[in-house]
Amino acid sequence: MNSAQNAPIPPKLMPNMALKQRNTFGFEVYAELAYEISAAEQIPGLMQQISEKKLPWRVLGGGSNVILPRVLSGVTLLMNIPGHDITQSNANHTVITVGAGVNWHDFVAWTLVQNLPGLENLALIPGTVGAAPIQNIGAYGAEIADYIDSIEAFDSVAHAFVTLSKEACHFAYRDSYFKQNPHRYIVTKVAFKIPQAWKPRLQYADLVKQFSDTDPTPSAQEIFDAVCAIRSKKLPDPKVIGNAGSFFQNPIISEAQYKHLIEQHPKLISYPEGVGKRKLAAGWLIDQCGFKGQRIGPVGVYENQALVLVNHGDGTAENILQLAKSIQVKVQEVFGVELEIEPNIF
Ligand code: FAD
Ligand code: NAP
Repeated sequence: MNSAQNAPIPPKLMPNMALKQRNTFGFEVYAELAYEISAAEQIPGLMQQISEKKLPWRVLGGGSNVILPRVLSGVTLLMNIPGHDITQSNANHTVITVGAGVNWHDFVAWTLVQNLPGLENLALIPGTVGAAPIQNIGAYGAEIADYIDSIEAFDSVAHAFVTLSKEACHFAYRDSYFKQNPHRYIVTKVAFKIPQAWKPRLQYADLVKQFSDTDPTPSAQEIFDAVCAIRSKKLPDPKVIGNAGSFFQNPIISEAQYKHLIEQHPKLISYPEGVGKRKLAAGWLIDQCGFKGQRIGPVGVYENQALVLVNHGDGTAENILQLAKSIQVKVQEVFGVELEIEPNIF
């Protein structure tokens, strides 16, 4: 076989590509040079060209956790790597490797069909498998870090593929090594390790309400269905109203700051978070400052959940960031707490 036969199919180039459908805020955005990445082998050659031409670049999955400017200059890699394989199965666990472009929710649904429970609390989170480790996605007391075995990625500094163990990913609350080192790694494949032992996690109030009276021992499929139903009722559907889910992270504060705050605000909602720390419900802080349901020009704060900022139509990144700033200033003034923006600002 000669080298031409070994060469990967070049990634598909789409110049001046409209990305309104590929960012859940629904901003009118164009990518100068968008490449559809459908196989990991396409990456080294493309990254070589990007490096030689000194072009700016970034990676986009489903666009559900980004705030995009009107024009994305240089190269945008659209991650569409497909496929999932069970690579190991024994009495203790099953390992599944999944392509970075696979839809997260579809993957969760597939694990349940395979009788591999564990990910059901993370149902209906939008986006791709490759993006899920970036902020260590979490919901209803579960997070993806609990199920990661290793991650394959292209390291743009070493210009080589690397495999990072779970420990090397430095997962923390909505955080990871990838988030700490933006524009360095391109995740191509994620290996999940699903333990055979399973027990339901029902500690969040909405799930308690759903099951405690009727069915105290629901199956993983029943939890999956309940999570989908609760989320569909509570959260705005990005196809109808643009949003990126929670706009701010829940702040983690010291026990000392918490004691001071609860004296001034006895109804403060918080949860223990590791040793000597408390997690505050950011949505409650924003609600107390009177923002819920407010509309400022084309953007606003969702009427049913103050943690979600929405684009009512023709909003832009500038509009959203301006609204976010006014929320941050007010929350700091009233509670002395800093709110950090969760989506990635490009
Ligand atoms: P994108 O938005 O495309 O990208 C996000 C970041 O990851 C960017 O920095 C991008 O450069 C980087 N990235 C994407 N793919 C790769 C890759 N292959 N390699 C390297 N970097 C990459 N999040 C939660 O944690 N819990 C929730 O419950 C939750 N609910 C949500 C509900 C709604 C309605 C919405 C709109 C969002 C929600 N989110 C939630 C946020 C979001 O869905 C997740 O963060 C998701 O993992 C983002 O996936 P994506 O493919 O859309 O990533
Ligand atoms: P909720 O159940 O109304 O709870 C409000 C906040 O309190 C959540 O942010 C949650 O923190 C925290 N919380 C509630 N019960 C808790 C418990 N028993 N132990 C520890 N923390 C608790 O939240 P919601 O808005 O309906 O969302 C439900 C779940 O989906 C949450 O886990 C939330 O993170 C997730 N979600 C995330 C996004 C996103 O974009 N990141 C968007 C929508 C929903 P945590 O956030 O740490 O869980």
